[in-house]
Amino acid sequence: MKEELSILIKAQYPLIYLITPEEERAEQAIAKIAQADTQHQKVFVWTMTRGMTEYGQTRNTPQGNTISPEAAIQWSIQQREPGLYVFKDLHDFISGAGVKRALRDAIAAFKGTEKILILMSPIQDVPIELEKDVVVLDFPLPTTDELHQVLEQQLNRNRAKPPSADVQEKLVRATLGLTKDEAEKVYRKAYVKAQQLTDAEVEIILSEKKQLIRRNGILEYIEEDETLDAIGGLEELKHWLRQRSNAFSERARDYGLPQPKGMLILGVPGCGKSLIAKTTSRLWGLPILRLDMGRVYDGSMVGRSEANLRNALKTAESISPAILFIDELDKSFSGGSGSSDSDGGTSSRIFGSFLTWMQEKTSPVFVMATANRIERLPGEFLRKGRFDEIFFVDLPTPEERELIFKIHLCKRRTEIDRFDLSQLAKMSDGFSGAEIEQAIIAAMYEAFAQDREFTQLDIIAALKATLPLSRTMTEQVTALRDWARQRARPAAASSAEYQRLEF
Ligand code: ATP
Repeated sequence: MKEELSILIKAQYPLIYLITPEEERAEQAIAKIAQADTQHQKVFVWTMTRGMTEYGQTRNTPQGNTISPEAAIQWSIQQREPGLYVFKDLHDFISGAGVKRALRDAIAAFKGTEKILILMSPIQDVPIELEKDVVVLDFPLPTTDELHQVLEQQLNRNRAKPPSADVQEKLVRATLGLTKDEAEKVYRKAYVKAQQLTDAEVEIILSEKKQLIRRNGILEYIEEDETLDAIGGLEELKHWLRQRSNAFSERARDYGLPQPKGMLILGVPGCGKSLIAKTTSRLWGLPILRLDMGRVYDGSMVGRSEANLRNALKTAESISPAILFIDELDKSFSGGSGSSDSDGGTSSRIFGSFLTWMQEKTSPVFVMATANRIERLPGEFLRKGRFDEIFFVDLPTPEERELIFKIHLCKRRTEIDRFDLSQLAKMSDGFSGAEIEQAIIAAMYEAFAQDREFTQLDIIAALKATLPLSRTMTEQVTALRDWARQRARPAAASSAEYQRLEF
């Protein structure tokens, strides 16, 4: 938060670590704070290429011999007037003994002097020796107002007729989650393509934004054409989701409803957990971003994984209301809080940061997580209140299997009367939805190779040739069921009924 930065500066925190890839915007914000302050602090900026220069001077000649970071820190200690000393990319030098010592000297010397060091970097890297003295802050992505200005500048530059306020709103919303430079680029590209910026260009901007989000490689924009109707069964879960279709609207807030936080879908592999998550995006009309935890972990540099996670969450927040989809939560966080040894504590720090974010987030980002194995999932996730609901997706019942056959056959053929769905459902006991779909595809391949249409018998043969996972993983499935029966809500209506009778 920019206000937060202003408060820290006014409160004279001697060392602030500001994380941002947007140097120019952050410098402008710092200069504004310095000027607004009654002290009128001067702002100096250090880079390894130029040394220390005064911000905003047309002939900004370096101050003395301040190319080396130690010399620059020393120079700022010697200054008498109040000032803000911004060091760009000091993370490359911060682990050096000389730099660490100089920073600690500065912290001691700056007490009560209205001088502040600001370390500006896209990466967080704070040595243990400084952890207690530094306050780390994320510089937020541009707000709607700032993006409005970017759009206005773009329109002025092109001498284009401004679109209606409504369209401007849409154009701005479409760039939420991008940096100022990125927003500028997508507006420019949309303009070059269409020679105007109107309602029609929102799509161009959105697809550009998807590219940019994709490029960071950690978040993926998912586009799903299927609706909830493509899922056979799971009626309880669908009902829960339908009930919350407007949960992120103003109307829901006015009614006094809290914003949904998230849900965890536990279950047997291949039973439609991911499909449910993706189709919810269409049902709720919200964008869905998949967080690839495998890519969050990056051992190339200390602090890089944490920065990756932070950036991804920040992007998700900035385009909220949105759904953040984490597939296989059990694999992503299996280390949990106890795994500090194997990777220098990175996974337990990442896990901690994620939990804190889930706990404290105020922006409407709905977390949709799936998991197959309960024993690998850290207990913290299962605590009451972490997710709004934990659903258990079991293997489909005979009625659900019939529906799944129907859905997948209808996807492939317009005429399906020749299939006896109830017989297929009977013969596929223990099969997951994914295995049913695969059996149909195998039957089609068989018939295609023989240059004929596929039949009921082809599907039966494919079913017989398959050993479903539920049989090869009986123990795991039983353990999951036993666990879920006590603690999770069944996703299918029939098992919900069954559970109600049992308790
Ligand atoms: P995993 O745990 O292995 O990721 P999952 O439970 O997330 O599995 P999905 O990836 O959603 O399962 O399912 C794979 C495919 O199987 C789906 O894309 C869909 O085509 C089919 N499928 C699974 N369950 C159903 C269902 N209930 N109705 C219709 N199709 C289904």
